[in-house]
Amino acid sequence: MNHYKLLTPGPLTTTSSVKEEMLMDRCTWDNDYKIITQKIRSQLLDLAGASKEEYTAVLMQGSGTFAVEAVMNSTISNRDKALIITNGAYGDRIVKIAQSIGLAFYQYAVAYDQYPNEEEIRNILIEEPDITHIVMVHCETTTGILNPIEMISNLSKEFGRTLIIDAMSSFGGIEIDVPGLGIDYLISSANKCIQGVPGFGFVIAKIEKLLACEGISRSLSLDLFDQWKEMDKDGKWRFTSPTHVVAAFSKALDELEEEGGIPARFSRYQKNNHILRERLKKVGFEAYLPEEKQSPIITTFRYPSDDFHFEHFYTFVKEKGYVLYPGKLTNERTFRIGNIGEIYEEDIEELCDIIETYIGVVKK
Ligand SMILES: *Cc1c(COP(=O)(O)O)cnc(C)c1O
Repeated sequence: MNHYKLLTPGPLTTTSSVKEEMLMDRCTWDNDYKIITQKIRSQLLDLAGASKEEYTAVLMQGSGTFAVEAVMNSTISNRDKALIITNGAYGDRIVKIAQSIGLAFYQYAVAYDQYPNEEEIRNILIEEPDITHIVMVHCETTTGILNPIEMISNLSKEFGRTLIIDAMSSFGGIEIDVPGLGIDYLISSANKCIQGVPGFGFVIAKIEKLLACEGISRSLSLDLFDQWKEMDKDGKWRFTSPTHVVAAFSKALDELEEEGGIPARFSRYQKNNHILRERLKKVGFEAYLPEEKQSPIITTFRYPSDDFHFEHFYTFVKEKGYVLYPGKLTNERTFRIGNIGEIYEEDIEELCDIIETYIGVVKK
């Protein structure tokens, strides 16, 4: 198998030191392992700027979607109703989750290149007073749009609603003041900006809110409350935990700290994103979103011409060492390039060289 770097929104390129942590087998009930779990939980709270008194971190086996589903299923009761704000496939997935659990919900959908509108949301909250929870994706990985989290936070405070944020692809790469924004549940996973390998998701939860959720879950394995209660005793997970992934994640958290924390990581991603957009624009690749709506996480590019063959382009770039990501828009021909992971300026410059060569070759 050829080695290549992933320019995808997770799983992504990790360091060899993170991968090396997985060379040892660990025992789930041994103290050494439980200590790792507790260390991770505490580091996650630090990254969120949250105190142990007010917030807790709960880890959940599975991919990120399992953690989103665990929150929806364990914190929204049959007496509640969720407002789900969507402008991409991950928001749509939350709607699907709500449907499959049978939750009462109201979907407020805007176009994939648009921000949700404050006045429209306020009107919904006035007209639908039975809405108890507001749910939104922070960085919609579908397009790379960074949704206005402060605006939603202010509305949720104004109306006194519970706020659930899917910050899967942004947490660890973009600073989020969880207590300041009054976020009640923030969801992310191991294989995004913290740069671990896939295998579990996590929830940063306001303790006061989570305490009221006992018995809401309609599922045994996705019961966030029970998972918390068990894990909070001494760091032992309910059911088998992804031990190798947990060890790698612990290392990834330390490496994030060594890099200079979230501000340093944000600058690296941001700078790389800027170089990428600028250089690709020069060879005919137009970004789907204007710069001001663009996150430093992932960028969607339109095909440069009608006769552009993504498969051919993808294979050319992959053979030279980088893997890109197909688009997720149904009405436009696009592809995506991720900025997150162990990727540096020289990688982005090299990628742009490769793409320029491709454009030159195809033109001939
Ligand atoms: C990656 C991602 C998820 C979770 O996807 P999984 O494939 O289940 O890990 C959810 N929401 C957003 C915004 C994401 O980027």
